[in-house]
Amino acid sequence: MKRFGVVVALIFLTCLSCKKNQKTHVTESTSKNGIEKNHSANLASQKSAKTLFTNHTEFISNGFDFPVGKPDGHQYYNAQKFQENDHLGDDWNGIHGGNSDLGDPIYAIANGYISEVKDYGGGWGNVIRVVHQHKDQLYESLYAHCDSVVVLEDTYIKKGEQLGTIGNCNGRYLAHLHLEIRDILNLDIGSGYGSDITGYLDPTLFITKNRK
Ligand SMILES: [Zn+2]
Repeated sequence: MKRFGVVVALIFLTCLSCKKNQKTHVTESTSKNGIEKNHSANLASQKSAKTLFTNHTEFISNGFDFPVGKPDGHQYYNAQKFQENDHLGDDWNGIHGGNSDLGDPIYAIANGYISEVKDYGGGWGNVIRVVHQHKDQLYESLYAHCDSVVVLEDTYIKKGEQLGTIGNCNGRYLAHLHLEIRDILNLDIGSGYGSDITGYLDPTLFITKNRK
């Protein structure tokens, strides 16, 4: 009886690991390399991200504004434009220079869903990511080096509402807001610089084109 039990248990365990292997195999065979794997993961997340707005249609974007000096960046300038020195975003600074803009409010550039609030440390500091559905496309805006964050992850926000304040990344830089706009969601945080702009948009150009 005891032996029979062991055999049954063994068969059961073998079947379980069979299933597990099968599952792993299916996943791997659909993606031949890391890039394809990331791509399908991103497609899946884009698809599920759309459902974020199904029951929250009031948070679908109706246009974009600038993240500081709302709504059009009054009293601020872009000190390092997109792709200047391979920069993958914009660097918003107050016109009075130095740390004069430290603690100034940062606003959501459009209605959306706050998908991440995280202190990445290093050269990033506090980062906020917001997913936007605009004209049936999904975008992500990313606000970095924040001194403070006044929103919670997994909540919705309206355009022009405050997300946090401009910071200096724990004294690493003079205070400024690093803003990115991406058209692939949930990419790695990256390094903020690079000549491969796959997944990244020129924030100022995009906002200017998509004002209400
Ligand atoms: Zn920057």
